[in-house]
Amino acid sequence: MLVDVSDIKKKRGSSKNIQRSVMLEAFDYKGKKISFDKNLNLNLTLLNTGEYIHAEGKVNAVLEVNCDRCLKHFKMPFSFDIDENFSESPNENDVLPIKNDKIDLKRAIMNSLLLNLPIKFICNEACRGLCPYCGKNLNEEECKCDVDDTDPRFAALKKLFNDKDE
Ligand SMILES: [Zn+2]
Ligand SMILES: [Zn+2]
Repeated sequence: MLVDVSDIKKKRGSSKNIQRSVMLEAFDYKGKKISFDKNLNLNLTLLNTGEYIHAEGKVNAVLEVNCDRCLKHFKMPFSFDIDENFSESPNENDVLPIKNDKIDLKRAIMNSLLLNLPIKFICNEACRGLCPYCGKNLNEEECKCDVDDTDPRFAALKKLFNDKDE
């Protein structure tokens, strides 16, 4: 997803607006697979700050992920801001390259997306997850297991599992 910046590269203060609808491929994130349900819509302003070409704007996406509580596959609308710098001599870590007068917006999108992703994906705040004993999805059916959440040993164990999860 290359964008030509030769038109704004010469003069400090030059800018242009980019509006696009793009499809990105699925990727792995901390052992989870994340895909995109449809095109991402991006609305960006590219500005020549003198030092950098600065990309700033907003991306609207719909992610397809698995719920961390019940494992169900679900669609999650997700919007995030883009705030990235590009340079022909990207010396600093967080500066992306300009090559042959072009910048790769995909890298800017992925950088910002990864910074903004939540730690956990939950299909619904009220999701009851899976029974820790029999594995049934408690959103769909009750099980007969006698789960005593007030048992401190169980709570400690549960906390351990949750911490390991992060
Ligand atoms: Zn869930
Ligand atoms: Zn159960």
